[in-house]
Amino acid sequence: VCPTAALTEVNNTHKVWMDLNNPKKHVVVQVAPAVRVAIGELFGMEPGTISTGQIAAALRRMGFDGIFDTDFGADLTIMEEASELVHRIQHNGTLPMLTSCCPAWVKFFEHQFPDMLDIPSTCRSPQIMLGAIAKTYYAEKKKLDPKNISVVSIMPCLAKKAEAARTELSKDHNNNVDVVITTREFAQMLKEATIDFSTLGEEDFDSILGESTGASVIFGTTGGVIEAAVRTAYEWITGDELKDVEFTQLRGLEGIREATVKVGDLDLNIGIAHGLGNARKLLEDIRAGKSKYHAIEIMACPGGCIGGGGQPYHHGDMDIIRKRQEAIYQEDRNKTKRKSHENTQILKLYEEYLGKPYGDKAHSLLHTHYTAKDKI
Ligand code: SF4
Repeated sequence: VCPTAALTEVNNTHKVWMDLNNPKKHVVVQVAPAVRVAIGELFGMEPGTISTGQIAAALRRMGFDGIFDTDFGADLTIMEEASELVHRIQHNGTLPMLTSCCPAWVKFFEHQFPDMLDIPSTCRSPQIMLGAIAKTYYAEKKKLDPKNISVVSIMPCLAKKAEAARTELSKDHNNNVDVVITTREFAQMLKEATIDFSTLGEEDFDSILGESTGASVIFGTTGGVIEAAVRTAYEWITGDELKDVEFTQLRGLEGIREATVKVGDLDLNIGIAHGLGNARKLLEDIRAGKSKYHAIEIMACPGGCIGGGGQPYHHGDMDIIRKRQEAIYQEDRNKTKRKSHENTQILKLYEEYLGKPYGDKAHSLLHTHYTAKDKI
């Protein structure tokens, strides 16, 4: 990770084993979309092998009490983020709105663009949203004390460890997410548990935080978050059914991309950047008043989370990234529901607990604020 070896990666696997061996703890786990198209590489499979069902099966054998999907958190993020985008467009709010689910990018703009803290979406990331719902709605349903729930995240990302520790994302000193491990650490744990991943059959995630749509899966690749948001915003703004959900003009691996999507009478201008050098160019344009976009998606890693720092090493090999990206889009096509606002468990969550998207309760649990930090 650090070429001079001055910094080493924090390994949290022992914390997960300790929680799993603590009878007082109710330990739930969530898995990010990018993990399922990469972990197979650590067990001799081809890049781009989809292992979603095997991951759920392996987690069940490890002894987790609830096996949840960060994709559920991603669908929830879209309910809030698409609401925020529509609100900003229809009420002369600050535009462009920037996506906010990449913590490395969030930290970057807090340090480098402290004069523009009103442009990112206030939405928390999918892992944090799922953690917040696990410790409130799920805890109430299961009659559990949230203090006894441990939420473990399996992420393609090193920055997600720091995100989970952000104090503005905790409540009463109780973090929404307790432990974050990477794809590589997860593979290490499977080997320690002598679980033969390559021979496992497919199993499902658990209700009530396990259902997901194709829109949430594509969070794993550059362009996917904004495509998912457009699928929902389109139907909310126009009131029409979106028949073709694949916005191919938003896809690809070029560092900066742009597209105009027709949403009723509105020409929705979208920018996409992956890699912080590319992000800086779009941000400098905003600062100079030259940006034409309504919404911009930014991801710090090459290709987005599929190329994250916690994934099996790819050494910059874009063929590997491309295969993982193709697998993400295949997983989306495999889903019967491909728009976040069609997720029945999400709709039930709003009906039973949150109220309306972008409402007061959703704000207190699912949104955040940003703080200007010194330049580094
Ligand atoms: Fe983490 Fe990279 Fe994904 Fe950002 S793009 S959330 S840093 S894996």
